[in-house]
Amino acid sequence: MVEQVDVSERAAAIEYAIRDVVVPAVELEKQGHEIIRLNIGDPLAYEGLPTPTHMIDAYKRALDSQDNGYGPSYGLSALRLAIASAETGKGWPCSEDDVYVTHGVTEALQIIFAAFLEEGTKVLAPGPHYPPYMAYPQMYGATTVEYRMDPTDGWCIDLDDIRQKMDDSVRLLVLINPNNPTGNVATKAEIDAVFTIARDYPNCTIIADEIYDGLDFTGSLVSLASRSTDVPVITLNGVSKVYFAPGWRIGYMAWHDPEGRLALVRDGAERLLRSRLCASTPAQHGFLAGLTEDRGWLDGHKALVKQRLDYCMERIEAIDGIECEAPGGAFYLFVRITDERAASDKQWVLDLLHQHHVLVVHGSGFSPEFGAGHFRMVCLPAIDVLATAFDRIDQFING
Ligand code: PLP
Repeated sequence: MVEQVDVSERAAAIEYAIRDVVVPAVELEKQGHEIIRLNIGDPLAYEGLPTPTHMIDAYKRALDSQDNGYGPSYGLSALRLAIASAETGKGWPCSEDDVYVTHGVTEALQIIFAAFLEEGTKVLAPGPHYPPYMAYPQMYGATTVEYRMDPTDGWCIDLDDIRQKMDDSVRLLVLINPNNPTGNVATKAEIDAVFTIARDYPNCTIIADEIYDGLDFTGSLVSLASRSTDVPVITLNGVSKVYFAPGWRIGYMAWHDPEGRLALVRDGAERLLRSRLCASTPAQHGFLAGLTEDRGWLDGHKALVKQRLDYCMERIEAIDGIECEAPGGAFYLFVRITDERAASDKQWVLDLLHQHHVLVVHGSGFSPEFGAGHFRMVCLPAIDVLATAFDRIDQFING
């Protein structure tokens, strides 16, 4: 046998449940089985939710006019300005200089973690949460501690749990709003209460992951930054979810620092941004068109997502062995497995896949502590596909 070169501990420890479950699904597909994939939050994989044409046209125009060179490291000025204006419209004074364009929220996270974290520091993130909030901080010697979202109360924030877990080593406190995987939308009162807690810890910055903000079905969603006059907030957003273009890999971070506490860390983030050159130039033109041209198209996409979400809730309510809190936003359902035969959520998900060819993600992949006993599915497929998926789930549980 060939002797293997060692892998770093940090790479070997990375897990991404959403894509990890694809490995056995691909094996089954190779054997000729057709799998209904409900695992990944990519609207483009499903019928009726395309990227708007005017954004694609702007992207193409940039390609055709040879706008294919390196751009400025913090993003095209016109795009930064348009993002700043969109954020200001959400209720806080954002200027072009506060905005940094990145290759998706994912790259923004890597830059933020690299700039804020070091050995012994902590990130406080919702449990359950989108997996990179657990996977990346450890690369910088930090640990992620989860605070509890209450499964018995619409997955709202457990403020007491945050209070208990806060200390001076917490550098970043994360809110995902609307939340992935639960779909919970935080109320203004909850957000204000989080700021009240954070105010006592001057080293703590709030990360506001608002990548699903255009898919709010409660009508009560507010921008986190708009609620802070002192605690620093970094807002994350981009084209992946609300502009239906995840493959473009364009996002941004917008820094709200009312008291000017972040000058040093911001200098560090800017150094990191310069060292990775820039985000894709033509894709930034596509995003610019999305921000500055017609926004009416979103209503149609949103109505379709809501229709599919409602259909899923109806089906879940009618199946013995699963139940779900109605999500307030985004396009996920975080479903509780009450089927008593389930040894673990992961085994349940694998059995469903092998026996009935429906792929969902085990809840423990989003939090071993707070996600176990659940699975996450997307509501994005057309209703006839969802209908078949639920028929199979019902068959799997109830025979
Ligand atoms: N943040 C959350 C909460 C997500 O659910 C996702 C993707 O599913 C991302 C960030 C990734 O964003 P991007 O595609 O901009 O890297």
